Amino acid sequence: MASSGIEPHASAAENIDDTVRRLAVERSHDLVVLCDLEGAIVYASPAWHSIGWDPRELAGVTIRELVHPDDLGVSSAVGEQLGAGASVDGVTVRLRRHDGTYTWFEINGSGVLGEDGELRFTLGTARDVGEREELRSRLRDLDAVYRFADAVAGASELGEVLEAALDALLEATGADRASILLSDEENVMRFRAWRDLSDEYRAATDGHSAWAPGEKDPQPILVEDAAAAGFEPWLEEIVRNEGIAALAFVPLVRRDQLLGKFMLYRNAPHAWSEREILLARTIANHLASVTERTRAQQALHESREQLATILRSVDEGITVADTTGRLLYANDASARQFGRASVEELLAAPRDEWEQTFEILDADGDPFDLAQLPSRRAYSGEEGSSILLRRNRETGEERWLDVSANPVFRPDGSVELVVNVSRDITAERLAERRRQHNEEQVRFLARASELLVASLGWEETVAAIASLAVPELAGYLVVDLLDDDGVLHHVVVAHADPELTDLVEELRQKYPPTVPSHPVQVAIRTGETQLIPDLQAVSEEMAHDAEHARSIRRIANTSGIVAPLIARGRMLGAISLGTIEPQRPFDESDREMATELARRISLALDNARLFAAAQERAHAAEALEYVADGVFLVDELGIVRLWNPTAALSLQRSASDAVGRPIAELVEGWPSLSSRIPVASGPDAAATRPETLPVEVDGQERWLSISAVRFPGGTVYAFRDMTDERAVEQLKTDFVATVSHELRTPLAAIYGAAMTLRHREVAVEQDQRERLLDVISSESNRLARIVNDILWASRLESGRMQVEIERCDAAAIAEEVVEVARARVPEGLRLLIDAPDGLPAIAADPDKLRQVLANLLDNAVKYSPDGGTIEFEASRSGGRVRFRVSDEGLGIPPAEQDRIFEKFFRLDPNLTRGVGGTGLGLYISRELVTRMEGRIWVVSDGHTGSTFFVELPIA
Ligand code: ADP
Repeated sequence: MASSGIEPHASAAENIDDTVRRLAVERSHDLVVLCDLEGAIVYASPAWHSIGWDPRELAGVTIRELVHPDDLGVSSAVGEQLGAGASVDGVTVRLRRHDGTYTWFEINGSGVLGEDGELRFTLGTARDVGEREELRSRLRDLDAVYRFADAVAGASELGEVLEAALDALLEATGADRASILLSDEENVMRFRAWRDLSDEYRAATDGHSAWAPGEKDPQPILVEDAAAAGFEPWLEEIVRNEGIAALAFVPLVRRDQLLGKFMLYRNAPHAWSEREILLARTIANHLASVTERTRAQQALHESREQLATILRSVDEGITVADTTGRLLYANDASARQFGRASVEELLAAPRDEWEQTFEILDADGDPFDLAQLPSRRAYSGEEGSSILLRRNRETGEERWLDVSANPVFRPDGSVELVVNVSRDITAERLAERRRQHNEEQVRFLARASELLVASLGWEETVAAIASLAVPELAGYLVVDLLDDDGVLHHVVVAHADPELTDLVEELRQKYPPTVPSHPVQVAIRTGETQLIPDLQAVSEEMAHDAEHARSIRRIANTSGIVAPLIARGRMLGAISLGTIEPQRPFDESDREMATELARRISLALDNARLFAAAQERAHAAEALEYVADGVFLVDELGIVRLWNPTAALSLQRSASDAVGRPIAELVEGWPSLSSRIPVASGPDAAATRPETLPVEVDGQERWLSISAVRFPGGTVYAFRDMTDERAVEQLKTDFVATVSHELRTPLAAIYGAAMTLRHREVAVEQDQRERLLDVISSESNRLARIVNDILWASRLESGRMQVEIERCDAAAIAEEVVEVARARVPEGLRLLIDAPDGLPAIAADPDKLRQVLANLLDNAVKYSPDGGTIEFEASRSGGRVRFRVSDEGLGIPPAEQDRIFEKFFRLDPNLTRGVGGTGLGLYISRELVTRMEGRIWVVSDGHTGSTFFVELPIA
């Protein structure tokens, strides 16, 4: 651009006058200014009006005051150049308009020398290039935005995008530093990219936000001068320490969401121009959308990466092959499965090389048809899966694989790829086998238990278990038991090989397992099951001598287990199990089984022992079943444990009802009763005399002669039911009283009569004499009958009474008896007899029959104090002759009708109105009738008389 300034020593226009020159200057659109050496304006041309200045106002104003603060550097450089005598051409600076805004000017300048050649003034012209510069800076901004967009397009991750954004911002705004912060998941702003910021500054301001997290339309915040911004003191200090003077906070907003912010910093106070803010916002908008997109991409990328990581880290071998069988992809697990160090090695390996390394077998161990491999079938579009056993031909290592293959089709339906997934299920298979093995063990134990429970003869049981265990579970089995002296004896010996059974037997005989290190000894000593994984290795330790060791080797047990037999804390012995080829050697899993088996055998042994003891006891219990004494056992808790049949009968409770129940519930008033029972303190203690005590049974009193013996588990009570005996006793006592009374009455009468007759002084009239003699005779008779009864009863009891059966005439005897009775029938009583002719003869003892019938007639008379009719009848009844004696007297209550035939039994005196008797008549009658093979009974309603019957067989 050509200078329009005054040429101080121009020669071409020397002749043009100053006026013209002035005119030229004054008409120029360029701003013309003449400054002194201090930079103060001496002259300003009228064109200054164009930017609002009155040229006169400008006199004395320095150029620095008019230059934009950001351009001061440039302008002072210009000043220096001019001062050095150089001229300046086309420098662009912003000059302040009168209204305070700035616009761009292109300035040219040169020095004006005095006549002495010294620099006196500087002259400058300035052309308004505002529009041009505006355009240019717009272009630059646009360029920055484009370049940013470019950088973003090429960036694959958010970090790169942020870096590009920072570059673009710094370049476009001319800011000294910049940073980008993004909100994290918790909505806290975090530094993600920055330029020229210290760690301290970032650490202190990280998380700081100028806007509330949820703010809808956050606006940029511009700080021209941090010192005057009214920051909180801590922030102001940090900002100052960092050397930051001006800051711009530009929000990154996307879809009303505050994603983060831009920060622009200047080291000097700075009025942020609209343009800068606009640019920052433009980039911010762009960045926000890019951030969002990049984040989404990153998430996608990450998820892809995750998938890849998953594929890498899964245990399933995954490969992808094309239709030629070439591997396109393989994960780490597949490499491992093929025995390769890395995926790369696997991918590089020749296609079917694995076929030489591995042998493929099916689940049954037969060779697998390779054409049927799921991967091969997938080439023809089939999907499928198989379980394979893969054996390494060299090492023999076996792996179980569950392989499946899926074809991936092209749009045209042809197979493009095959995806193979193979899972190593060796561990599962082993676990499965282990489980099966365990199940077998459980089944074995169950069967052993059945055997043990079924039979109580433990010898057969253990033998049965041995044959069950050998060879299914073990090849060798020995049971050794300790005797009472602690010496071991083998009781069962079994070997899968019958020939070796004898050898084992022989060996055990010759070399009992007494060596302290022998597993049997260890098991017995420690009470713990011993597992010997390699028996041959320890054969020397177990052996007594070299020959023994050789024999152990011959038995060829590969492994062994010895389990102690313990029951109720007592060591009984041990069971030894051994495996032989080709059995699987025992391992830890078998220890449990052996222990369990030992436990069951111990139980069986213990049961057998207990059973033997129980049987002894059972014999005793059996005896108790038959004893006539009542026996019951009450434990220390008062529960009945034994209740023999006699006890059941006497106490009216069945054993099933009584056993297991508290004795106090079974026996009325047990507490007071038991306190009176004499108890011996042990079986050996001196026998105690039983006590006869009353016990209420079903409302009736029974007398028990009872005693007890206490033993550790409880008390045994033994008793005898004395109720009947006691009743007899009572009757006897009563009898003595009755008989004394019965005898005294007639004796007193006889005595009285005799004394009267003897008295000489008293003259006894003849008829009185007769009466007295009658009394003596009848009372003697009565006495005789009483004594007779007693005699007969005593004879009957002692067995000295004989009956002599003969053919006799029933009617004749009946008539005789009635004839005799008539003499004693008092007034008011009628005696009728009905004894038809033609009654058959009977087989009886006639004297005894007379005695019986006389007694019945006698009673009928005696017990009819109010008179009435007595009927006597003899008639035929089937093969018998029946005598009937009926009266209309006191009658007999039905409840007592059986008892009147008992010895000494008499009805309550209230019921007999004091009629005397011995209670022996009916007893004697029954005894006699029974001996004559007849029957006697009574029928009475208890108050309108009684009817007695006697039946005797026809002769
Ligand atoms: P006793 O000498 O007491 O009569 P018995 O053995 O003859 O003895 O009779 C037993 C009891 O039976 C009698 O005491 C009486 O109570 C009762 N008894 C016997 N016969 C009769 C009867 N005909 N009527 C009422 N009670 C009778």
